[in-house]
Amino acid sequence: MIIAIDGPAASGKGTVSKALARHYRLPHLDTGLLYRAVAATVRRLELDATIEADAVAACDFDELTLADPVLRTDEIGQLASVVSAHPLVRAALLQRQKRFAHQPGGAVLDGRDIGTVIAPDADAKLFVKATPQIRARRRHTELQSHGSTLSFDKVLTDIRARDARDSGRSAAPLVMAADALLLDTSFLSIEASVEKAIALVEGRISPGR
Ligand code: C5P
Repeated sequence: MIIAIDGPAASGKGTVSKALARHYRLPHLDTGLLYRAVAATVRRLELDATIEADAVAACDFDELTLADPVLRTDEIGQLASVVSAHPLVRAALLQRQKRFAHQPGGAVLDGRDIGTVIAPDADAKLFVKATPQIRARRRHTELQSHGSTLSFDKVLTDIRARDARDSGRSAAPLVMAADALLLDTSFLSIEASVEKAIALVEGRISPGR
């Protein structure tokens, strides 16, 4: 079974995806980490993220980069959304994600284009959203717990900039797949979001039960 989870930054899609993977005992891939690893490599090699050839050169990143805590920073998140807009960067990471999705037994993947590009054939697709203010509040709290001193307003501005870039790009923009189910986590606790996600997936994979 393939479960595709898409949605904007800090919508809760990561938490929901991990919980679904545990519930259904499926492997999970956070595809945002791949773009973050490209971004961190661009920065380490002092390349220019806005130049497609530079960003493509960073797609061959060291696998150890995926475990680097720097990937979680807001700065790398922003840079990831710059490198991810290049079609050749998306092409370079495509097969890896498709292979993960289509491994025997299935998988859970989360990102921006899982239901539309990586696994349009997924058994269940969720689009997870929440208001920009609520997402910024969550991200701000998370960043603070890691010692960041970024203001709430800066985090909100960054979230809006990332939303605009991810939704406005021509290569695999952030859009809800026509057959995806909407999960709005704005006013839901983590537990309630997970419960709702499982109920939505169940409704898709065993309708009428
Ligand atoms: O999900 P996360 O915030 O870690 O993703 C970082 C950035 O990577 C996103 O803002 C987006 O630009 C890009 N991304 C993407 N396609 C995906 C996953 C992430 O373009 N499937």
